[in-house]
Amino acid sequence: MNAVQRKQGTFLVLGIDAATWSVVNPNLQKLRNFKRLIEVGKSKELILKEKPISASVWCGMFSGKLLEEHKHENYVVNGEIVKREDIKVEFIWDILHEEGKEVKALNVPFVVPPYSFGVNFKPIGFGLPTNEKEWEEELERVTEKTKELLAEKPDSVISVYTLLDRIQHFHWGEDYVVEWYKKMDEKIGELIFDTGFLDGNNRLIVISDHGFCSFGEAKIQTLPEHTKEGKLKGDHHENAFLITVNVDYEIERPQDVFFAIEQTFF
Ligand SMILES: [Zn+2]
Repeated sequence: MNAVQRKQGTFLVLGIDAATWSVVNPNLQKLRNFKRLIEVGKSKELILKEKPISASVWCGMFSGKLLEEHKHENYVVNGEIVKREDIKVEFIWDILHEEGKEVKALNVPFVVPPYSFGVNFKPIGFGLPTNEKEWEEELERVTEKTKELLAEKPDSVISVYTLLDRIQHFHWGEDYVVEWYKKMDEKIGELIFDTGFLDGNNRLIVISDHGFCSFGEAKIQTLPEHTKEGKLKGDHHENAFLITVNVDYEIERPQDVFFAIEQTFF
């Protein structure tokens, strides 16, 4: 086969904010699509060396930079919401686009509301969905939009679900959390398996920005224990979730997602 003429396929990064092996592993019998992904791909627990703060980790994942370099830690600084323009980095979608690649990014929560590139998408609940209706809506709309984007066979699609982070903050330790992983599992089935996405030479990374644990066990507290939506039961843990399919680059930290995509195209 002529390697030069071989089409790269689509590189899909599916971000699931706060997805954690400590919920997935004990429930694999109920999570058949996660189970299938584990069987066809390579899975590992990513141990973050940086603080498990969503804004900072997502920013590093798609810029390839550490916090010291991108300097973006929180959504709000001195009472002002940080905007994309305030962060002085090039993201992987900027670079691919400059090089003439077809790239879409959807609902990436390194800022609020989450950021999209090359896609018209209105984040649900300003990117902080807080009730069942909004969680359902996010799950549905991110899935549908991602399916639409994949059908166009672009070079790369990056899509992120934020709902599990919100659900786990308020319901950690309850069966309710597993119910939402099941709903997520069904959507992954629709998106990855029902579409035949993995049948060709496409590439996939499913990743979280951090894991989760009981509120008191967390090394860092990302939110006050008492919020206007209620008392928090869980908080971020430094063990994140990762499954890759057809990705050669060894991912050891969130920043490696940037390099895995870059290496595929350049
Ligand atoms: Zn997060």
